Amino acid sequence: MGRIYLDHSATTPVRTEVREAMEPFLAESDGFGNASSIHSYGQHAKAALDNSRELLAAALGAEPSEITFTSGGTEADNLALIGLAFAHRAKGDHVIVSSIEHDAILNSAKFLESAGFRVTYVAVDSFGLVDPQSISDAIDEKTIVVSIMHANNEVGTIQPIREIAAIARERGVLFHSDAVQSFGQLPVFVDDLGVHALSVSSHKIYGPKGVGALYLRRGIGITPLLYGGGQERDRRSGTENIPGIVGFAEATRLLLAERDANSERMQVLRNGFLQKATAQIEGLRINGHPTRRLPNNINFSVPGVEGEAMLLNLDIAGIAASSGSACASGSIEPSHVLLAMNLPAECVRSALRLTLGRKTTEAELYATLETLVRTTQRLRQMTDHTLTAA
Ligand code: PLP
Repeated sequence: MGRIYLDHSATTPVRTEVREAMEPFLAESDGFGNASSIHSYGQHAKAALDNSRELLAAALGAEPSEITFTSGGTEADNLALIGLAFAHRAKGDHVIVSSIEHDAILNSAKFLESAGFRVTYVAVDSFGLVDPQSISDAIDEKTIVVSIMHANNEVGTIQPIREIAAIARERGVLFHSDAVQSFGQLPVFVDDLGVHALSVSSHKIYGPKGVGALYLRRGIGITPLLYGGGQERDRRSGTENIPGIVGFAEATRLLLAERDANSERMQVLRNGFLQKATAQIEGLRINGHPTRRLPNNINFSVPGVEGEAMLLNLDIAGIAASSGSACASGSIEPSHVLLAMNLPAECVRSALRLTLGRKTTEAELYATLETLVRTTQRLRQMTDHTLTAA
């Protein structure tokens, strides 16, 4: 068996159809134009931009004018939180986020604190769930915006977004949701969820990296992060990344045709894997919610086995996994998500994330489990020896 990629929440490969859709917009023929140019090259690019915007808007149940293309999920999150806070500063100085948001939101919140805003970091329970009541309790008369992710990137927990959005709307507070991880696997419709703003990213759905979008409900003001030529209705200046945007739209089109079936298939594979893993690895503890979780997400701890050591061993065996969020890897900081869920330190250190993709097979999962069982035994023995020798 070749190499096994089980890190689809970090990123996904660009689909062949997506590459083919992008190609004409890189080529010297007539597709490379600047969408702001008047000539035919520009018109061609502008038409592709418009079509892509319409497609993404329809996928989210939004209007094309409500979509702002960005350089990815990070920029969409920054624009949402910082842009809404600054635009509505006359109303107040308070922002609410959960303690398990992606760093794109958490570090935007920290920036807002440095700019004089107050931020409430709402706690989660041991499954990583936000209690809607805690949002209600945190809202005061100066609250501008609440931002709670649709699904968590590390443990896959799916938040009660409809309930939280309803509370925010009732209290006259703006509500943003980071749907970067959920869009590829769950229905994400802005009216159904009741959000004012929502972030998505292309490279999590088999599109190119460096492109994403912010949905912003019509009529809501936002302060831009970038200033320049006034593209994207003045919300995001800069020459539009037409090949990237076209690729994102094509990835979205393909996603919609397959999302339900793929998610169902991954969920069955995932559940089967977890059942076997729990039976074969002593002490394995599943992290995250047992049922309210993304269909492709596996996150567990194997006490006595360092996550990093397991990752390296898996990599040597040709298996790509993750010990936390990819964006935080390279650092040995313990996962802020698992810490916020109050997991024992031992479980935080030994957490492992496997995230399935559209092509993941049962055979790949079997092979991975075999390696996990073997490596766990070996690493545990080594720890025992070290303890005996000490
Ligand atoms: N939000 C979540 C939940 C994510 O998982 C990620 C990426 O890992 C991002 C935001 C950032 O998106 P991007 O990589 O497109 O900047």
